[in-house]
Amino acid sequence: MVKNKNLLIAGNWKMNGLKENLSMISSLTKYIKKKNFKNSEILICPPNTLIDSFSSFSKRSNLMIGAQDCSSNESGAYTGEVSPLMLKDIGACAVILGHSERRDYQKESNKLIHDKAENALNNNFLTIVCIGETLTQKKKGNTLRIIGEQLKKSLPNKIKANNLVVAYEPIWAIGSGLVPSNNDIYKVHNFISNKLNSRYGNKAKKIKILYGGSVNKKNASSILSIDSVNGALVGGASLKFSDFKGILDFCN
Ligand code: PEP
Repeated sequence: MVKNKNLLIAGNWKMNGLKENLSMISSLTKYIKKKNFKNSEILICPPNTLIDSFSSFSKRSNLMIGAQDCSSNESGAYTGEVSPLMLKDIGACAVILGHSERRDYQKESNKLIHDKAENALNNNFLTIVCIGETLTQKKKGNTLRIIGEQLKKSLPNKIKANNLVVAYEPIWAIGSGLVPSNNDIYKVHNFISNKLNSRYGNKAKKIKILYGGSVNKKNASSILSIDSVNGALVGGASLKFSDFKGILDFCN
């Protein structure tokens, strides 16, 4: 058990899941209700197609439902885009922004992520902004420089600290089974925390910093116990109830 920490455990389902996966959410809501978490918040971000049905389940427990992206615009001629207002309309209260897969495949820039984050925060969304370095950047010793730049350019100046979350996700750790050493996670989280402090002052204390990248039931306890880690962003291990529960079992 990871004691005395307010943790946020967020599941990113990516492009996985059909209506038949309602049973996972049903088991999860029952488990959350029974466990009655005092200090931890649990969030699942399924594809947009499932938000509506998942959020009707989540009303029966404290499970939060979120999206994996949103538009930087509110409404209008933006084909294929979905705004925070629309996501709120179907029950989402959170959004993941700037995931490395979107930065890579959709060529999302720091500026676009910044604008999306501003829009999400203005709509009172729990806004998770992802940052992280590639393996090449790490090997060249550029991790902190890259992270610093992403933080500076992706986060808005005006923030609602209660709603802003930063997820440190080393790209080489996502879906690979590789995880940085606890000491490396600590160093990067500490660096992020110092940057947030100098930019936002007192407000920074409320910004949670999550670790993401191959978190599973075997390594969760050790990662979540690291001083500067306020939770986890979980991909693969959030898809199956038994795997996700194995992580949540360490929370209270
Ligand atoms: C992710 O994609 O955000 C992620 C952390 O994935 P995984 O847990 O599968 O590495």
